[in-house]
Amino acid sequence: MRPEALNPLFVETDALDGVGPKLKKPLDKLGLTRVRDLAYHLPERFVTRRVVDNLDEASEGEQIVIALTPTEYRSSRNQRGPYRVLAQDAAGNICALTYFGRASFTAKKLLPVGEKRWVSGKLERYGDMLQIVHPDHVEEEGGDALGRLNEPVYALSEGLTQPRVAALVAQALERLPGLPEWIEPRQFEKEGWPNWRDALHLAHKGENQGARDRLAYDELLANSLALMLVRADNRRRKGQALNGDGHLRDRLQLPYSLTGAQARSVREIEGDLAQEAPMLRLLQGDVGAGKTVVALYAMLMANEAGKQAALLAPTEILARQHYETLRQMAAPTGIEVALLTGRDKGKTRESILMGLMDGSIDVVVGTHAIFQDSVSYKDLALVVIDEQHRFGVQQRLQLASKGRAAPHTLAMTATPIPRTLTLAQYGDMDVSRLDEMPPGRQPIDTVVVSQDRMEDVVAGVARHIGANEKGGGQQAYWVCPMVRDNETADIAAAEERYAMLKERFGDDVVLVHGQLKPEAKDAAMERFASGQAKLLVATTVIEVGVDVPAATLMVIEQAERFGLAQLHQLRGRVGRGSEKSVCLLLRGSALSETGRKRLALMRETQDGFRIAEEDLELRGGGELLGTRQSGDTPFNVANLEQITRLLPAAHDDARLLMDRDGGLASERGEAARYLLYLFERDWGVQLLRGG
Ligand code: ADP
Ligand code: MG
Repeated sequence: MRPEALNPLFVETDALDGVGPKLKKPLDKLGLTRVRDLAYHLPERFVTRRVVDNLDEASEGEQIVIALTPTEYRSSRNQRGPYRVLAQDAAGNICALTYFGRASFTAKKLLPVGEKRWVSGKLERYGDMLQIVHPDHVEEEGGDALGRLNEPVYALSEGLTQPRVAALVAQALERLPGLPEWIEPRQFEKEGWPNWRDALHLAHKGENQGARDRLAYDELLANSLALMLVRADNRRRKGQALNGDGHLRDRLQLPYSLTGAQARSVREIEGDLAQEAPMLRLLQGDVGAGKTVVALYAMLMANEAGKQAALLAPTEILARQHYETLRQMAAPTGIEVALLTGRDKGKTRESILMGLMDGSIDVVVGTHAIFQDSVSYKDLALVVIDEQHRFGVQQRLQLASKGRAAPHTLAMTATPIPRTLTLAQYGDMDVSRLDEMPPGRQPIDTVVVSQDRMEDVVAGVARHIGANEKGGGQQAYWVCPMVRDNETADIAAAEERYAMLKERFGDDVVLVHGQLKPEAKDAAMERFASGQAKLLVATTVIEVGVDVPAATLMVIEQAERFGLAQLHQLRGRVGRGSEKSVCLLLRGSALSETGRKRLALMRETQDGFRIAEEDLELRGGGELLGTRQSGDTPFNVANLEQITRLLPAAHDDARLLMDRDGGLASERGEAARYLLYLFERDWGVQLLRGG
């Protein structure tokens, strides 16, 4: 149960004055659903304004506050055109105050002719006229204009304005309770940080690194602590020691031998499984490093000990593919492998459920459906989680506690993340790294091409897939980006591209995206995987896992819009067979300096860990103040730079709390409970109660 003091922060935003359905919608869109979220909606930056006596003192582009007297209204002839109020400064200079759309209606009332007003905003030039578009504030003499020379600038969505958001944030801040300090006293003093409530107030008021750092630190601390609690809980639980005798593994007839890294990982897993405490291990390996066979070894160890194993995949497509691969590889062992997804209904489903219950199924592969309440296992001893990012892993651990004894867990990820972020995302989890690729891989040629050269690109694809010949040719992927925050619009863009390519290549092209019916998606994938279709047009749904070795060309549109890790994943779809593979990164015309460097890095290396480290650096530097979500960290407040700088201390702090202060039982531990709830890492707290 959440501590009562925090309840006022966890009510929906419409509990605030002035928030109705109309305002709630744009707030929700920004992820600001509760009062807490508003308090943590930290400014992206601040504007600083200068008071000037007359326009001659100001320069174009400057943020100013100035006394102006309206002289004349000018509505435009065109309905959609701007509405202008001409106004005069003390020296007689004229400036237009320009309004568009609905704002025009109030302009006249705000700015009566002949009456002096304080106007704040950015001075610009339009033709030969000076203007301020949508002044931030217009106030009567004696108003607060001169007290607001420094103001926050918030991220907005359509339907919100800066003053609106600022007013709501102010309301949220008023509701902040006073809370006990959870930061380790020495750390707190050393940094000279403000307390939690003050820090939030200060962070909205002006640039204040101390306040920002404290809030970021809180988030990192909450995260580390929650991960440690999960870990500690896991250690306390009883699992079952698995001692496979190797009789199933011996029957495998793989066409290759394991790489050194694979063999090492298998040994590490074997060591863990032989312990009674449940294994909690992360298998990190770049795309194509060969994680699947390691997973198979682990599952066979469970089977050798007479137990069941489950493999959880994030998507249907991937589950199906794993199922096919594992079934083939495991065929000589004689174990029973089954596939269970949300789509299995009726008799098929019934018989799989039976098999899991009576133990005749040894290995089940599936989506989250394999952990629904209606599914029970005879003796589930190992859960393998593929491509599971971030907290997903930790939360799945709870799900995985289905068996009588806690099952062992192996989480696999192909997202090479920098070491600091490994700590952030997985805490102290044991890690096996596949840092060696299977032999015989051809490097992928990566080329950056301007999107303007679309015709050449299409011609290149035509040559590649052998569109003009019968039979011959290789296969290719064409990835359309998810760029807008609107999935439907993105899919429309992909469909448009598909239509264009279909005109050229006819039935050789198939389309896959997230809104297709599962049957249609599978049918398209099937046609591509079997080689009937030559070109697969897709949104990023193909990012994880799809394995078609005959595909040797990857085209990625608007590559600069993707994260490097994502580009790396996508590129990893090719270069899987023995043929030479090529990756074309299409870039837009307006490419920033960082954008250019990022694409150059892609061209230069194929080492996922290096890409991850350098991407962190390239992006980390530029956003000291920014709270922008980077998409690949589990944090909203802490930016990349802060993660790198503050995480080690936060981690130690959490460790201290766990070790010295006895978990959350001490006085500081009590305070830390607030923190966990505040950042919704309360699954950590819940474990304490249960344990
Ligand atoms: P990941 O899941 O790590 O991206 P996969 O498990 O799909 O990689 O393996 C990629 C490809 O490499 C598969 O075709 C697999 O058969 C092959 N492979 C795996 N291990 C080896 C090895 N030791 N030697 C040669 N090929 C291997
Ligand atoms: Mg894989």
